[in-house]
Amino acid sequence: MTDIEGARERRVRTGGVDLCVAELGDPAAPTVVLVHGYPDSKEVWSAVAARLADRFHVVLYDVRGHGRSTAPKPLRGGFTLAKLTDDFLAVIDEVSPDRPVHLVGHDWGSVQSWEFVTVGRTEGRIASFTSMSGPSLDHFGHWINTRVRRPTPRRVGQLLGQGAKSWYVYLLHTPALPELAWRGPLGKAWPGILRRAEKLPAGDYPTASLPSDAAHGAWLYRDNVRARLRHPREDAYAHAPVQLITPLGDAFLSERLYDDLERWVPRLTRRTLPDKHWIPRTRPDQVASWIEEFVRSVEAGQDPRPTRTDRHAQRFGGQLVLVTGAGSGIGRATAFAFAEAGARVVAVDRDAEAAARTAELSRLAGAADAWAETADVSDEQAMEKLAEKVHREYGVLDVLVNNAGIGLSGSFFTTTTQDWRRVLDVNLWGVIHGCRLFGARMAERDQGGHIVNVASAAAYQPSRALPAYSTSKAAVLMLSECLRAELASRRIGVTAICPGLINTNITSTARFTGVDEAEERRRRERSARLYGMRNYPPEKVASAILEAVAHNRAVVPVTPEARGARWLSRLAPAALRRIARVEPKL
Ligand code: NAD
Repeated sequence: MTDIEGARERRVRTGGVDLCVAELGDPAAPTVVLVHGYPDSKEVWSAVAARLADRFHVVLYDVRGHGRSTAPKPLRGGFTLAKLTDDFLAVIDEVSPDRPVHLVGHDWGSVQSWEFVTVGRTEGRIASFTSMSGPSLDHFGHWINTRVRRPTPRRVGQLLGQGAKSWYVYLLHTPALPELAWRGPLGKAWPGILRRAEKLPAGDYPTASLPSDAAHGAWLYRDNVRARLRHPREDAYAHAPVQLITPLGDAFLSERLYDDLERWVPRLTRRTLPDKHWIPRTRPDQVASWIEEFVRSVEAGQDPRPTRTDRHAQRFGGQLVLVTGAGSGIGRATAFAFAEAGARVVAVDRDAEAAARTAELSRLAGAADAWAETADVSDEQAMEKLAEKVHREYGVLDVLVNNAGIGLSGSFFTTTTQDWRRVLDVNLWGVIHGCRLFGARMAERDQGGHIVNVASAAAYQPSRALPAYSTSKAAVLMLSECLRAELASRRIGVTAICPGLINTNITSTARFTGVDEAEERRRRERSARLYGMRNYPPEKVASAILEAVAHNRAVVPVTPEARGARWLSRLAPAALRRIARVEPKL
């Protein structure tokens, strides 16, 4: 029996140790080998393995001295990278003797996998490598040397930054102390520390073997780190394509460590995500889907590299993004921007044809997939149906963009209760429905995410001409702020976007109250001309949205006038009140 549900287990004897190897899935499918880190056992992968098992032959093993694998005797000298490479080869000789495997490593599992993928004797045995939170010691050694030899202020800063993050490495080199701590108080406190500091979900991880895993694993550091950093290999080039997944909030590794990686890896795909160190536990859906996408593209003989400079492709590639009001203007441009970054896009609009067109063009723009859905965001039942379908067919959203909205202009006394209801139903209730139905599942999944609500500069800039519209948008802004506070502990960001005057179709559909049809038509045309003259494109709002998600911004005014009004609303609200009294000439 093994601790991974449904796994078949075998023992592999190699170099004086006995390794515990677990397998899931069809052995005829491509083999994915998952290597765990420190202080861990193979169970760190259980959630990722379960997600990959229906598509791949998934193999996990306890590294020597960890979990239910035996430890070398003596311990000193028993954990060298050469011996770990012997173990890896012994495992793949058993589980996939004739076909190269797809290697995945986290933390020390990644450190040792870098060795596997850069030494000659594994050439032809590894089809691809996905690395998470564990650099090659050789690359790291060269990274340090370059910065020590040619120290610019930036490089010294990078050295000091990583040096501070490596405090535990120095401690692990002290004799006996780590063993005493792990077998004593630290071993007991560790599960609680992981939950509090790293936000790991509660469950059956870490396993009971943690104190001895951690005590034995100290030799991973002692046997390798100093020697390799001092004398890094000159030929540590990867002989298989590599996917590097970098969690941006890693407490132990600076993202700068990977700056020079293209030198060592000719075929490199970069991915980033806003999380801490233990992403196989905190983000199993995202990790599994990136592994799957990468393995599939390598198996299909495709070049999986996104361009290096494309930060958005690194961050949003493969993510599931839903945009409401995606049939036109800001919504359509936002769908395209996510599509260009390689996301999977759900384009929702009440106009079925427009939504279908956005989905079609999104596919052409580079979306990993794109679908069109028709729904009126103000209709609770329609939104419930939509959410049910999206969750069933496409999955839980990574990013939700509540963008659908309508314009309404006219003084308070000419605005009928029906006008009020319509604008609040779409602009406010549409956002509430989206946040409730999609946000709830995001929170329940507990793997992070982001909600963007498109408000308006009218949310903080009063105007005698827009009482209903501005009220609806002010409500969206406050809702976003409150929700941001509530969802922060779930690692779900919430952003309110306040665009300003953007050249879209909104002017030709906006309602003008208190005037007859002909006058309404004339005002629409005039405002369309005005917005056309300002000519601020929706694409710029879309890129502000992607930036806001990438940096988890709270409130983002987009155009210069929207930014100016935001400053005035804080520093000189009386001036804004004066401007609010001016009757616009339309
Ligand atoms: P747009 O009219 O070009 O696009 C809006 C899209 O939303 C259309 O495709 C429309 O069919 C869809 N839509 C409208 N009501 C819907 C509903 N009930 N259910 C589903 N879909 C619906 O407008 P836009 O300028 O791109 O506006 C997008 C958002 O940006 C709106 O929330 C708007 O208030 C906001 N905004 C726009 C500007 C601007 O100057 N254009 C400024 C500030 C804020």
